[in-house]
Amino acid sequence: MFSKITPAFIQELKLEIPEKLLFIDQESLLNYSHDYTEDLNFLPEIVIKPITVEQVQWIVKCCAKFKIPITPRGAGTGLSGGALPILGGVLLSMEGMNKILQIDEDNLQAIVEPGVINEALQIAVQEKNLFYPPDPASKGSCSLGGNIAENAGGPKAVKYGVTSHYVLNLEMVLPNGEIIWTGANTLKNATGYNITQLVVGSEGTLGIVTKIVLKLIPLPQKNMLLWVPFPNAVDACKAVTAIFKAGITPSCIEFMERDALLCAFDFLAKPNTLDESTNAVLLIEVDGNYEEQLLRDCEVIGEITLAHHAQDALLADAYEQKEQWWRIRRCIGEAVKHSSIYKEEDTVVSRAYLPQLLEGVKKIGSDYRFRSVCYGHAGDGNLHVNILRDELTEEAWKRVETEAIPEIFTLCKALGGTISGEHGIGYVQKKYMNILFSEMDLNLMRQIKNVFDPLSIMNPSKIF
Ligand SMILES: Cc1cc2nc3c(=O)[nH]c(=O)nc-3n(C[C@H](O)[C@H](O)[C@H](O)COP(=O)(O)OP(=O)(O)OC[C@H]3O[C@@H](n4cnc5c(N)ncnc54)[C@H](O)[C@@H]3O)c2cc1C
Repeated sequence: MFSKITPAFIQELKLEIPEKLLFIDQESLLNYSHDYTEDLNFLPEIVIKPITVEQVQWIVKCCAKFKIPITPRGAGTGLSGGALPILGGVLLSMEGMNKILQIDEDNLQAIVEPGVINEALQIAVQEKNLFYPPDPASKGSCSLGGNIAENAGGPKAVKYGVTSHYVLNLEMVLPNGEIIWTGANTLKNATGYNITQLVVGSEGTLGIVTKIVLKLIPLPQKNMLLWVPFPNAVDACKAVTAIFKAGITPSCIEFMERDALLCAFDFLAKPNTLDESTNAVLLIEVDGNYEEQLLRDCEVIGEITLAHHAQDALLADAYEQKEQWWRIRRCIGEAVKHSSIYKEEDTVVSRAYLPQLLEGVKKIGSDYRFRSVCYGHAGDGNLHVNILRDELTEEAWKRVETEAIPEIFTLCKALGGTISGEHGIGYVQKKYMNILFSEMDLNLMRQIKNVFDPLSIMNPSKIF
């Protein structure tokens, strides 16, 4: 169905693309053969790093003409294999399109290229007293294009929402090489189908995003951070719901199991400071403009968590303390990856069902004899379940993939949840889509893909 890259294809590319943007040396191909997903590697046949939309357009036109698969890539931090070039072909790295084009302080909007690193935009808008809330734990390395493609979340999603809530308009190159804008730079838009929001979360399967118009909000002036240890992880999950029921919406509520914290301490080469009886910690942030209000919120959170058997509720007394706690939370993903071969599942349920989800995962773990390290965005009901291979035999590890993970996902569905909250389906989760969707649902999605990409060249082998 697809062609391999030929000298004729390269010759055609070179008509518009400078040679310095084309990479076919073995080192480059290897560097772009993996993202952050498990230990998977697929070699592309060529890596191209365009710097203008016209170059993207030309590359896509050449690929359409020669039937070459294209895999768009941001920064390669994805956890579902979306940027893996499964079928070889062109790896289109968007890292060179990394300019913040405009910060519009009157309209509270930013226009950016997709290769801008999330944190670079956050810093740039903060300097103008503005705020771009979506902050994946990978914010220092992931790109905004990748965030759009995955509809990324992050700790602040619980109060401020996920990436889709901030995307107003997109410039994209369609799989036939045409350039479109998907919407308008407005806060409201009731004009026909919402193509913008269809593209958000489409994992690079519908086209290449080349410019992004984002909504900004005023920067909250203050925040406070609590570290709340619990002897019982399920009690920690129950406390999360109680905090919202008390009328408080924290700007973050992160859940970390003891094993996740131990991995993080190891990774950071820090001593284990946990009490022996601590089995989970909630990291809870409140933000706003008025210190007295935040202090009062912290008091109420303290009372609620203590009533749920928390051992303490420690308030960070300085910026350095906050940074230290956040560093622990943010490194857990990488720390787990360093500790063992693993599979990460991005389960999500309605917040109040988090205790059942956690208990169910542990029960499935004991049935299949695997160790799981759980952590995540508890305020969103989003639990990252990291299943460690440890000493499991090949056969037992296979059963995890074919039986245990489907059981976890069936549990998510039974609790009214779904199989990915923010990491996407990509390559590694597509075999589980039929747990969630009927053949009719899946066909509807395939038909949408077909309208955009009849040749199926755009990130093939993903989602379906
Ligand atoms: C340590 C760690 C912590 C993480 N924490 C979080 C978290 O808290 N929340 C969260 O949501 N995610 C998290 N992630 C996952 C990951 O960072 C996000 O999915 C992120 O959005 C991926 O961005 P990227 O630039 O690395 O994209 P890539 O991995 O390069 O690509 C991801 C997908 O986007 C597509 N894509 C990239 N650019 C474009 C473009 N311009 N046009 C069209 N398609 C494109 C690719 O084809 C692929 O399908 C974490 C990852 C790590 C390693």
